[in-house]
Amino acid sequence: MVSLVGAGPGSADLITVRGLKRLREADVVVYDALIHPDLLAELRDDAERVYAGKRGYCVGSTLQETICDVLVNRARQGLRVVRLKGGDPCVFGRGGEEAAFLAERGIPFEIVPGVTTAVGACAAAKIPLTHRDIGQSVALITGHFDPDSPECTHDWSALAKMSTLVVYMGLRHLDAIVDRLIAAGLDPETPAAVIANATLPNQTVIDSPLSLIAEEARNAAIPAPAILVIGEVVGALNNPLAGSRLLEGVSA
Ligand code: SAH
Repeated sequence: MVSLVGAGPGSADLITVRGLKRLREADVVVYDALIHPDLLAELRDDAERVYAGKRGYCVGSTLQETICDVLVNRARQGLRVVRLKGGDPCVFGRGGEEAAFLAERGIPFEIVPGVTTAVGACAAAKIPLTHRDIGQSVALITGHFDPDSPECTHDWSALAKMSTLVVYMGLRHLDAIVDRLIAAGLDPETPAAVIANATLPNQTVIDSPLSLIAEEARNAAIPAPAILVIGEVVGALNNPLAGSRLLEGVSA
């Protein structure tokens, strides 16, 4: 049996109770970068630890084939295998691909959900992801692909009509993403925030109108991993974020 387990958005205590139970029982844990060391400290001393590196995924990478082979081989030996991934395994985590790989080989698997970054980061920055009046829809999108490349299939005008947008993996293409959204009709004055290292002691939050957010992120040297949140909800709560630019470290 393989458990695809979501580790949560960063802080070790944001894993689910079920996820932690699977970790503590595991014979083998295959984990990604960005997994908090305190979670790995929960493993049995004799558990096998397999680091799956920065880009763990099943298709088109030798590393990934190795990872998937480890999952399959260990599961066939009757061992309890945990595949531990940041956030939720199936939100931009390629959990679907790994699950398909296992299913094709007849390996039983389960998915243990995790708090995805959008949810964890917005909680930490006191941004309500939805709001009865000003946030009736939310879209989670990847900013991984260059908006000019054919791999990027976003319907920008549809996205510009959402109340709230959360962009994962968007730091590299921040300018192009913002340009596309504004060209598609999103108000340049829409509140936006970039949240880096969310839920961790080195969390950094900046906010500004959408049109300036890429420049602000550059000026503040915002590091990865980070998400971009766009929408009126960014300033919804009466907190220090509302209306002014904030750069802060939050202690855990
Ligand atoms: N499965 C994960 C997402 C993996 S994609 C989830 O559900 O959250 C990796 C992207 O997630 C990063 O590029 C970044 O955009 C975001 N991310 C992951 N951890 C983060 C953190 N602690 N703070 C801010 N963004 C984070």
